[in-house]
Amino acid sequence: MSFERILAAAEAAGAKDIGLTDHPYHPGLAKHHEALCRARERYGKGPVRVWIGAELEVVGIGKLIIPPDQLPQADYIIAAPSHYDLQHFPPVPHLDDPMEWADRLLTDMENVPGSGAHIIAHPFFVTAIMRPGEKGPRLPPIADIIAEMRPKRLDHLLDRIAEAKIALEISPRISVKPEFEAFIEDWYRRAKQRGIRFSTGSDSHRPLTVGKLGPAEKLIGRLELGPRDFWHASQVEKPKT
Ligand SMILES: [Zn+2]
Repeated sequence: MSFERILAAAEAAGAKDIGLTDHPYHPGLAKHHEALCRARERYGKGPVRVWIGAELEVVGIGKLIIPPDQLPQADYIIAAPSHYDLQHFPPVPHLDDPMEWADRLLTDMENVPGSGAHIIAHPFFVTAIMRPGEKGPRLPPIADIIAEMRPKRLDHLLDRIAEAKIALEISPRISVKPEFEAFIEDWYRRAKQRGIRFSTGSDSHRPLTVGKLGPAEKLIGRLELGPRDFWHASQVEKPKT
């Protein structure tokens, strides 16, 4: 996934814009952004416009794992409220309790407003629950967790996201399980009614899938999203320094 390979794939997919959104796997994301900036300058006025982003785990109320002002080259910030796989700690005391999971997922989403994030990545998606392995503790099915989420709390969350003008991501992860997709589709429909915008993320980790949304394309059709419903990095107001 070098800059050159990603851009070649984006060009082949006919993309006009691409966002390169890395995780802070190790300290030095800001330095990595500087290198990306130089690669973007070398690429020059190619057919694809390149935007630099970061996907940051939510670690507290209005708090991301790296404060966005420490990433001056980032064009946009994505909050990841459910990347427990990267945080290396059990997210709830009782891993088999769907009620604890529901509360944890909602709390982490509620913590995004005020963090400086522009988008929320793959809402409510937890890798360990969606793709359970052979080993490890027994985790509740996603349907049981969803059943523990009070509709009022879900609506209130949307109100806060709308107020903070944060976009919600549409990625292939939404479609990994039908019951999850149905839940997200319903919630996104109510998000659209509130004027919340959506960003598309291919969540691509290899050149083959760059610019491709897979089954999530159909979701965009069913939600009847038009150009005005989409968030774009060009709309981000950068603080003048
Ligand atoms: Zn992610």
